[in-house]
Amino acid sequence: MDAALQTVPADDATTPAIYELTNLSTLTPHAEARLAAALQAMETVAITDFRNVVEPARAAERLAAELGRDDLQMRARLVRADVLRRQGEAIESGRIAQQVNAWATERRDAYLLARSHLHLAVFFRHVGDLADALTHAVSAVANTSDELPARIRARHLSVLSMVLYENGSPDEARRRAQQALEIAAPAGDDEMSLQILNNLAYMAYKLGEPDHARQLIEDIRAISVRNGARLDSSVLDTVARIEMMQGRYAEAEAALRPVLDGTAEHLLTDGDLIAECLLTVAEAQRLRGAVDAAQATLDRTARVCEERTLASARARVREEQAQLYAMTGRFREAYEEHRRFYADMQALQSAQREARARALQAVFETEEARRESLRFRELAQRDALTGLHNRRYVDERLALLLQEAAERRTPLSAALIDLDHFKRVNDTLSHATGDVVLQQIAGLLTEAATGAAVAARLGGEEFLLILPDTGADEAVRRCEQLRRTIAGHPWRPVTGGIPVTASLGVTTIVDGRSTPSALLAQADRNLYAAKRTGRNRVVADPA
Ligand code: GH3
Ligand code: MG
Ligand code: MG
Repeated sequence: MDAALQTVPADDATTPAIYELTNLSTLTPHAEARLAAALQAMETVAITDFRNVVEPARAAERLAAELGRDDLQMRARLVRADVLRRQGEAIESGRIAQQVNAWATERRDAYLLARSHLHLAVFFRHVGDLADALTHAVSAVANTSDELPARIRARHLSVLSMVLYENGSPDEARRRAQQALEIAAPAGDDEMSLQILNNLAYMAYKLGEPDHARQLIEDIRAISVRNGARLDSSVLDTVARIEMMQGRYAEAEAALRPVLDGTAEHLLTDGDLIAECLLTVAEAQRLRGAVDAAQATLDRTARVCEERTLASARARVREEQAQLYAMTGRFREAYEEHRRFYADMQALQSAQREARARALQAVFETEEARRESLRFRELAQRDALTGLHNRRYVDERLALLLQEAAERRTPLSAALIDLDHFKRVNDTLSHATGDVVLQQIAGLLTEAATGAAVAARLGGEEFLLILPDTGADEAVRRCEQLRRTIAGHPWRPVTGGIPVTASLGVTTIVDGRSTPSALLAQADRNLYAAKRTGRNRVVADPA
């Protein structure tokens, strides 16, 4: 086979687009379309191939600048940011993501919003700021359109899933992972499917469901056998942990044999994975009473940690060492080792706190830049005519409010408000008059949205009122009051004799266990019922 061809995987039809890049210039026919195709190929490149996009990403950025295509330039920058992050340059990577996010917010570019929010989610996760990671992951998914390539949609959901899990929402996390899998699997994306299944298996293991975890591992094996890939070390570690959970220590050790022998597949990104696997082996050996073997494995792990300066794994070696001493009756040494473990962990945590503060400061350098990006963000989330929050804001906010409601097990209500026969106002009077009506309605809604309530304009003459922590009875009462306020408003100066009324469809989720789209769909059904049964009324969920 031609040596030059061997670097291009035969099954990856997108790769040639990347290699074409270096030959492209502003004079090449369809240069913009080709550049866009190459960018998409880089955005969906296999994780193990990321090093191959360093040069092409630079070329893409230059070409996009020459073509005057800011959006393509931003996409190329994000590809570069991704490579930087994988090479350990988190701060520079975060800074690029932050700049692209400000740009995308200002231009309201949904695709770049989705991509930059995803990068920011990964950045915040990396520095250990899980709350901000979640906000960005939710925004990434909210801005991800159904038309995007399967791998991108699956990846965005998968990151959201991981961050939800780390924020203590395992059910939500699993739901998102499942959705990601339902996109990746039919698209034939084995690499992504394997990653998602591995996350699901890990979650099942952590949640104490060995049978479910085992089933997922079988799914992983089936895919690996089919595409001839060896199992990744992280999968093997999960397999071993599941075996241990059921007291099968020898099997656990056997599962990690390929890692010990150095024949397992490693993701390039996970430097400390090998140490994790070795620690699992040491624990399995201790638990089955093989003291000498366990000690040898621990010594090996300690060497790996020191070679690679893996501080957190090093501390855990001490913890395991303490256990091993205790098992053999060397209690004084166990005690000393445990104290060192504890001191290491303390030092590690304060070092992490400092690193986090430094990283955040470096990325959001000046207060001015921060305010600027907040202002863009705020602008992008407001409707120009009424100043109310817009659909984009609702998409982000509603997901978070539902999640809060689920965590606190509090109810949440939402009402869709649609003006009745609004066309008449436009047609009989004027569009400008219609606009004034919409603005005044916005004012009434803002007054009605007291406390934690959120008022938004979803589009046209349709509005939304979100009522956190509000049960069905209270929601109906507030909607009824709003309906009366609208109907009773002094419209005569604006519309002459034409009445202005609204129909409201209100729905309540008692424990937050729903999705924004399911919630809005139910409110819409109730709104439709209100229209059908005569308008100017409130309809709530059927009893
Ligand atoms: P229904 O009671 O069934 O809701 O009747 P409707 O006439 O309100 O409903 P329909 O959805 O048929 O019409 C909505 C109208 O809202 C159509 C459009 O002219 C008007 N509209 C949408 N956006 C705007 C806007 O920004 N300004 C103005 N003035 N009118 C708008
Ligand atoms: Mg309407
Ligand atoms: Mg209407």
